Amino acid sequence: MYKDFQSYLQTTLKEIEEAGLYKNERVIVSPQRAAIKVNTGKDVLNFCANNYLGLSDNQELIDAAKKALDERGFGMSSVRFICGTQDLHKELEQKIADFFGTEDTILYAACFDANGGVFEPLFTEEDAIISDALNHASIIDGVRLCKAKRYRYSNANMQELEECLKQAQEQRYRVIVTDGVFSMDGNVCPLDQIHALAEKYNAMVMVDESHSAGVVGKTGRGTTELHNLRGKIEIITGTLGKAFGGAIGGFTTGKKEIIAMLRQRSRPYLFSNSIPPMVAAAGCAMFDMMARTNELQDKLHTNTDYFVAQMKAAGFDIKPTQSAICAVMLYDAKLSQQMAEKLLDEGIYVVGFYYPVVPKDQARIRVQISAGHEREHLDKAIAAFTKIGKELGVIK
Ligand SMILES: *Cc1c(COP(=O)(O)O)cnc(C)c1O
Repeated sequence: MYKDFQSYLQTTLKEIEEAGLYKNERVIVSPQRAAIKVNTGKDVLNFCANNYLGLSDNQELIDAAKKALDERGFGMSSVRFICGTQDLHKELEQKIADFFGTEDTILYAACFDANGGVFEPLFTEEDAIISDALNHASIIDGVRLCKAKRYRYSNANMQELEECLKQAQEQRYRVIVTDGVFSMDGNVCPLDQIHALAEKYNAMVMVDESHSAGVVGKTGRGTTELHNLRGKIEIITGTLGKAFGGAIGGFTTGKKEIIAMLRQRSRPYLFSNSIPPMVAAAGCAMFDMMARTNELQDKLHTNTDYFVAQMKAAGFDIKPTQSAICAVMLYDAKLSQQMAEKLLDEGIYVVGFYYPVVPKDQARIRVQISAGHEREHLDKAIAAFTKIGKELGVIK
């Protein structure tokens, strides 16, 4: 059997490679941070991590994790409801709820699991899920696991959303689902309008704050802060794997009955391991830090504003962004790959994205800004972009 299957896999892999879509991993041999070393020995500046607050190598979090490792051991060897809950997990859940102004929180091993396990326990074939077309893969998978009727509107298109809501009036319950920040453009979902339409057509709202938590809003509380909707959204999901230290872990936070039902019925929660004590402890230390100071959010916002302004001044076409994601538009797929390659030679690590990850003729380089970047890092990146941009005829 395997011989046939093997040749089928080999052919398919070759096709992926020939289409230029084969994903090779670069190997980093330093901690994750702004200035990293890769296994070729080269030192590069990292502009493609989700390390928005620069916390991936933060000493306070490392110390908290080490302390928990000594005091609470390495792993839980259990799911939460059997014997996998320490006080640290409960504390972290409360701190997440305090951060978002919600009633309760449930932890998962990742946000992929949070999204995978949120729909099926709550909604049935009598209900409607209305989803933005650009929502994250984990939302799409989660919706697939649920029997509710599906509606889809194109990215942030409020006319289409309204149309879906009208059509969904026959269903028992309705939930509108959206990413907080869409990761390819960096645009924030129009949560104010979504919420208003939800009120008008009697629906609930779920926001995935994975790219927005810690980033969007003056104090990084996410899209509900930006749109003055704190406490008004029924379901928020998010990750501890991006701005919040970047280790592992996800959560759903919101109305307490929803969270209670998820604890009873959500399959990735019931049938998958508890996060390690050190991750929970570092998470607690991280949210304590967020409650104490706004320094990192302020620095991130200053850095992003500076980078975008300088890149525009240099002549680059930058997608309007309200997050720390900055899409440098090149439109041409090959050019995006060439430019990323040449930037790496200059010591700037960025990634070019093209079809099918973004629409045809919308190729770009996605730059992710961090509070871990110093002004000199940003200046070096801007100078490299300008040099290579001129070389390749992208700017004059
Ligand atoms: C990254 C991301 C996820 C997955 O988070 P993990 O914790 O890494 O599984 C889910 N949703 C969105 C919108 C994301 O950007």
